[in-house]
Amino acid sequence: MSTHASPELAIAVKDLTKIYGDRAAVSGANFEVPLGTVCGFVGPNGSGKTTTMRMLLGLISPTAGSGTILGEPINHPERYLARVGAMIEGPAFYPALSGAENLRVLATLGGYSLDQVQGLLERVGLGDRGDSKYKTYSLGMKQRLGIAAALLPNPQLLMLDEPTNGLDPAGIQEIRELLRDLANEGTTVFVSSHLLSEIEMISDSLVMLRKGEVIFAGKTQDLLLRQQPTIIAKSSDPQDLVKLLAIAHDAGHEGTVIDGAAHILGPTEWAPILNKMAFDAGITLAQLAPVLPSLEETFFEMTGDSE
Ligand code: ATP
Repeated sequence: MSTHASPELAIAVKDLTKIYGDRAAVSGANFEVPLGTVCGFVGPNGSGKTTTMRMLLGLISPTAGSGTILGEPINHPERYLARVGAMIEGPAFYPALSGAENLRVLATLGGYSLDQVQGLLERVGLGDRGDSKYKTYSLGMKQRLGIAAALLPNPQLLMLDEPTNGLDPAGIQEIRELLRDLANEGTTVFVSSHLLSEIEMISDSLVMLRKGEVIFAGKTQDLLLRQQPTIIAKSSDPQDLVKLLAIAHDAGHEGTVIDGAAHILGPTEWAPILNKMAFDAGITLAQLAPVLPSLEETFFEMTGDSE
């Protein structure tokens, strides 16, 4: 049951599993998060992100498997929780109290210094709104106050469940910058999102979940390498596209017709060669464009449709 994590790992899980009734919410998950990095935890709604985070925080017990947080086993959360800050399933605050008062209540309850409240408010961009009542806050401000609360213990590891959910692009950008800054200062950030595009640019590594299973765990850079360059060809005659696919296939390039256009795997340099082969075969193409799919498209290609 024990996992021997090296001290440079903030999180390590091995075959982590949670079964509810006859359904696995998380099934044999394996991944590692190095200290001082941002790890994006990505998957559609219901894929098991919250369940995994709850197990990592010792809120629920795994059905099977094991894990370590900051080198300590997850079945002994008392050994690491003081060094972990978390915002999971939306922060709970008193609506009638100000942001600063809410943080003071939490600091008092947790035994943390009250002196850091104003600094934390400034850290999350609420420096001049700390005295406003929580109920007057926008969703983005509420999320940022939640992050400030998670930072109260001055944690080595920050675990955030969907902190960008429901935010507008400017709000998402602010959270992204804050998380990146925290990581640059040495805090490890484990952040979930159902949208890869919201966190890919700040994530050193990614763990991707689909139906409770880890379908990718590794460096963001390695996922970028999986992006397959594609050539999109259009013709007014659907028969021409079928012929074009056959020509490409004979040349060792696979393809399919999607929405009236041929999508053929191949690098940009190969596009003129394909064009010449099409021309020689009497096919007139209306359009021929090399494209590189986004990381999001690469992800969906790997995971199938998301809801
Ligand atoms: P969301 O973003 O919607 O919270 P998620 O990726 O965090 O999605 P989980 O909340 O971990 O997903 O849920 C994973 C699966 O486990 C879902 O099918 C959910 O219905 C189920 N589940 C979660 N908690 C329980 C529970 N206490 N009892 C039964 N089933 C549960």
